[in-house]
Amino acid sequence: MTIFTKILNREIPAKIVYEDEHCLAFRDVNPQAPTHVLLIPKLEIPTMNDVNDSHRDLMGHLMVVAPRIAEQEGIARDGYRLVVNTNANAGQTVAHIHIHIIGGRALGWPPG
Ligand code: AMP
Repeated sequence: MTIFTKILNREIPAKIVYEDEHCLAFRDVNPQAPTHVLLIPKLEIPTMNDVNDSHRDLMGHLMVVAPRIAEQEGIARDGYRLVVNTNANAGQTVAHIHIHIIGGRALGWPPG
């Protein structure tokens, strides 16, 4: 179990911006841009490497919800970035899949 399960279970506080049956979105505690939201499935999947065909609908759902959250946050038109860090080289620190929704400023590329 990770800290994100504790957020899901309301055991630790978070600034929740969206919730439905399958996922939860809340503000990153250490934002890297004016808008930085984390979108997580309620199902605990540690990394993208653990995704399999049984997760097809769930993962698709996240990709439908993410732009809705961007719209809700007011960053859809100007643009934003969706990021899913996986394992050490990408700097994944929480072993529960999370989509970073980052925007509100011009973002650099490539990532550092
Ligand atoms: P990653 O490095 O891709 O695993 O991203 C993990 C993210 O979770 C980081 O951006 C952290 O700032 C964020 N984070 C860690 N703990 C919390 C928390 N309790 N509430 C909100 N965001 C968190």
